[in-house]
Amino acid sequence: MCGVFGVYSRNDYVAEEIYLGLAALQHRGQESAGIAWIDEDRRINVLKGMGLLHEALDQSLLSKLTARAAIGHVRYSTAGGSHEQNAQPIGANYAQGPVAIAHNGNLTNFKELREVLENRGAIFQSTGDTEAILHVLAHQPNRRPLEALRRALIGVSAAYSIVVLIEDGLVAARDPWGFRPLSLGRRGDNYYVASESCAFNLLGVSFVRDIEPGEILLINERGLSSYKMPLTPGCGRLCSFEFVYLARPDSVIEGISVYMARREMGRRLAKSTRGECFFSGSTSGDADFVAPMPDSGTTAALGYAEESRLPYEAAVVRNRYVGRTFIQPTQRVRELGVRIKLNPSPDLFRDRSAILVDDSIVRGTTAGLVVSMIRECRTRSVHLRISSPPVRYPCFYGIDTPSKGDLTAASHTVGEIAESIGVDSLCYLSLEDMVESIGLPGDRLCTACFDGDYLREREGEESRNACERIFD
Ligand code: SF4
Repeated sequence: MCGVFGVYSRNDYVAEEIYLGLAALQHRGQESAGIAWIDEDRRINVLKGMGLLHEALDQSLLSKLTARAAIGHVRYSTAGGSHEQNAQPIGANYAQGPVAIAHNGNLTNFKELREVLENRGAIFQSTGDTEAILHVLAHQPNRRPLEALRRALIGVSAAYSIVVLIEDGLVAARDPWGFRPLSLGRRGDNYYVASESCAFNLLGVSFVRDIEPGEILLINERGLSSYKMPLTPGCGRLCSFEFVYLARPDSVIEGISVYMARREMGRRLAKSTRGECFFSGSTSGDADFVAPMPDSGTTAALGYAEESRLPYEAAVVRNRYVGRTFIQPTQRVRELGVRIKLNPSPDLFRDRSAILVDDSIVRGTTAGLVVSMIRECRTRSVHLRISSPPVRYPCFYGIDTPSKGDLTAASHTVGEIAESIGVDSLCYLSLEDMVESIGLPGDRLCTACFDGDYLREREGEESRNACERIFD
């Protein structure tokens, strides 16, 4: 998962706004951050570094830059390792001028594309998939950048939401299935593009609309020009996990408030009988209160407490000065991170029965460690409620669940998971309730990590041929 941000202005210098926009998107990636802009000599400039935004970039330096269009990126690696050479944006000066790109998602035919490009002489600097798009542009030296980009995007397979800087302006594009969100905003004559609309609030930018699936939007001194890719999939694949966990609750995606969707998931979880459950004997009927796993379970826990008419207690305290465990790269750091980050309040748990609400169980590490800390408070019983279905399948579209081995629900029953986490009961929200809580038709959502219903795309030879046709 990554966050992208772009600004185009006729009058203002915008580099510092990129910094502020990325600050609002920090939850989408904490490994590296960067910014790219085109200077008065028509050269591309890139500044990037490892770590959180304030470690990677110097805000005071950006405030002095005279850039009227710029793009930025915060990264969590899903393709390619966590190295500085994979940090984004990636920029280059080629036959048609300067270009830089920042990407959220995963190109599912990257292997074939890289092979085709290397056979044409391309030398890759990074191991990430984003660089391939730049090489595709460079290998079409006689086409204008926008046309070269359009051909590149038709040849690559999902999933991408990208911002691209070319001499003629700022380009934003979303793959034809719309896996990853991308929003357009405006303040006066300035246009903004962001992975999530929450990035606009900080800057006083008004949300205009979502970039459409399959849309390529050019923003330049002539205003906005929208182009449609000639691919019509007939269904959408917006990531349902954005509503469950990834997006910030103050974001609006395709007209749906993430906060409202999450609260509805909690409500339905409290009353539904459709989800998968395990009870060891003690039921949640004796529960004294509902507590969220902060912050991922907070909004769903509010809905759960509302529906079940139980008190809501912030009984697990989060240390705000360490990052999200799910998006830290190694297992060892992740486990240590849980203990540093989350602590139950002993007085609230002692001799009481608690319903603990979280958004999902991926590896089970966080839930297991928190429940064992709760047990140390001499609690009567702990009932875990999950506001999404079991995650049984890996994601190939830009989220870090690359193998089934990482997913506890892929190889364990609900009872086995409950036992290994150490809870008295465990219930998941059903797929139907999750989709209905989001409120978009099921055929507009990707639910592959829950039900294994992957997009059937070009594979192997067919994909290689599609890549080669880019250059015809
Ligand atoms: S597989 Fe899951 S995480 Fe990946 S895009 Fe689909 S719903 Fe989102």
